Amino acid sequence: MSSSVNSIKKMCVVGAGQMGIGIGLVAARVAKLEVQFVDSNPVQLEKGLSFLDKLLVKDVAKGKCTEDERAEVRSRITSVSAISQISSADFVVEAVSENVELKRKIFAELSESLPENTILATNTSSISITKIASAAKKPENVIGMHFMNPVPVMKLVEIIPGLQTSQATLDTTLDLARKMGKTTAMSQDVPGFIANRLLMPYINEAIIALQEGIATKEDIDTTMKLGTNNPMGPLALADFIGLDTCLAIMKVLHNDLGDSKYRPAVLLQKYVDAGWLGVKSGKGIYEYPAKN
Ligand code: NAD
Repeated sequence: MSSSVNSIKKMCVVGAGQMGIGIGLVAARVAKLEVQFVDSNPVQLEKGLSFLDKLLVKDVAKGKCTEDERAEVRSRITSVSAISQISSADFVVEAVSENVELKRKIFAELSESLPENTILATNTSSISITKIASAAKKPENVIGMHFMNPVPVMKLVEIIPGLQTSQATLDTTLDLARKMGKTTAMSQDVPGFIANRLLMPYINEAIIALQEGIATKEDIDTTMKLGTNNPMGPLALADFIGLDTCLAIMKVLHNDLGDSKYRPAVLLQKYVDAGWLGVKSGKGIYEYPAKN
């Protein structure tokens, strides 16, 4: 049996990148959970925590919370550098890079280290939940919990049960998403689920349009922003998501659905090969000079 949402006091977030930090922040601030981050890269962990601190300070400046509340939220947050150092966890959200072998390795390790009833959720954007779950000792406790970027702002969480996910795991995860102030939508466990089955081919097509010289990057983005009333153009959005993540998602759609319409843009592959990953690396389709 999995635990009910009331018994969830502590969440572990594996991967303190842009998504992990947002998920942990909302869990600590809105759901008032204890949060422990795990990241194997100390530089990334420090960068992530300093970003989290900046977000909390901004909230105080904007009057969204008091200084005492900020300090209280921060006191619930800790971090470690390996899964073996997790002290305890009632619920885990994995948010490491979009790589199936890495995620399977992490789920095997989590099953070894944590009590067998712990719910293990993955924030994967596209990878089969069933495949990730089969690396865990108890696949019935594994589920997809797909937050949107930036997590503190975006209301939606896609919930994706795998083939073996239990009803109890599903119920607790839905309750937890609501406790974090989110609205849920359920998807079947298919490549890309709902959001990225629709969004990523659109972004990929925008990169193909750029590659073919149909228009400048600015004109492609302006057309889709002002012409279809989107807050961001597809190329700026690709940089914001991370070009490595976009490429990984397109590869999952292409390989797992087997349809050539999902082939990743050659230009997308080239930028990732160059290390141009978007906002997080300072350069992608656009350039992002470091702010002081
Ligand atoms: P990111 O590159 O910002 O962060 C990934 C983090 O994982 C890094 O901090 C890295 O150090 C850490 N990591 C790598 N290997 C690790 C290990 N073995 N143990 C612990 N930590 C490890 O990536 P992101 O954008 O935060 O994406 C993370 C996940 O969330 C991916 O599965 C992605 O598909 C998904 N996602 C991303 C977005 C988005 O817009 N970027 C939206 C929804 C879901």
